[in-house]
Amino acid sequence: MPLDIVTVPCLEDNYAYLVNGPDGVAVIDAPEAAPIIAALDARGWIPGVIMITHHHWDHVQAIDELKQKYGCMVMGPEAEKDKLPPMDHYLAAGQTGGSGDGAMEVIPVPGHTLGHIAYHYPQARALFTADSLMALGCGRLFEGTPDMMWDSLSRLATLPGDTMVYSGHEYTASNAKFALSIDPENPDLISRVQDITAARAAGHPTAQVPLSLELATNPFLRASDPGLKRHLGMEDASDAAVFTEIRARKDRF
Ligand code: ZN
Ligand code: FE
Repeated sequence: MPLDIVTVPCLEDNYAYLVNGPDGVAVIDAPEAAPIIAALDARGWIPGVIMITHHHWDHVQAIDELKQKYGCMVMGPEAEKDKLPPMDHYLAAGQTGGSGDGAMEVIPVPGHTLGHIAYHYPQARALFTADSLMALGCGRLFEGTPDMMWDSLSRLATLPGDTMVYSGHEYTASNAKFALSIDPENPDLISRVQDITAARAAGHPTAQVPLSLELATNPFLRASDPGLKRHLGMEDASDAAVFTEIRARKDRF
């Protein structure tokens, strides 16, 4: 049974995801109870587990309400145990679970927060990145260093290109403006930005993208690209140094 993945817009610009597979239904992140409950009810789905990516309030605040309603388990990153609400299970980097297309592994992606994790479903080619790798962007470095985030993104960049990336916020349109400002001649980026503009005009989500497209267009994944380095006047700089510069420019953008 392949995974059935549902994107659930929450709050202003957050996303939760429903993942229905051979092991039952999981909710990934819990920004807001009402839209998540509505999406579950519309399908007659009962979640068995809530899987949290990191401790920020806009990813955890609906846990109590969902747990009360469904009696589901809650899991989250071990490394953020002290910052998270109480959980039934804590997940360490590299931990695996599930079966068949529901097989999942925990990938550590520190940077935005120190214990941030991504949920990777290798068979189903799905990757839930929340505020680490984002569509045309990456999360702000609230807790980690640029080197840490560059390592995290580099780890994700090695996954198969046909992996679908599901990120935590609808920031794509503003990320696109920044991306064009530092990579203005990238033809893949230019055509992607046109698609994003059209999708947003139609009210469609744009934070769910194949990794191959991110690799071709997301400046934060392209810090090693010679053309981009040249554009920044950083031909001889290390990839991590270029990433650091791009992240700093985004913070000022
Ligand atoms: Zn966050
Ligand atoms: Fe967030």
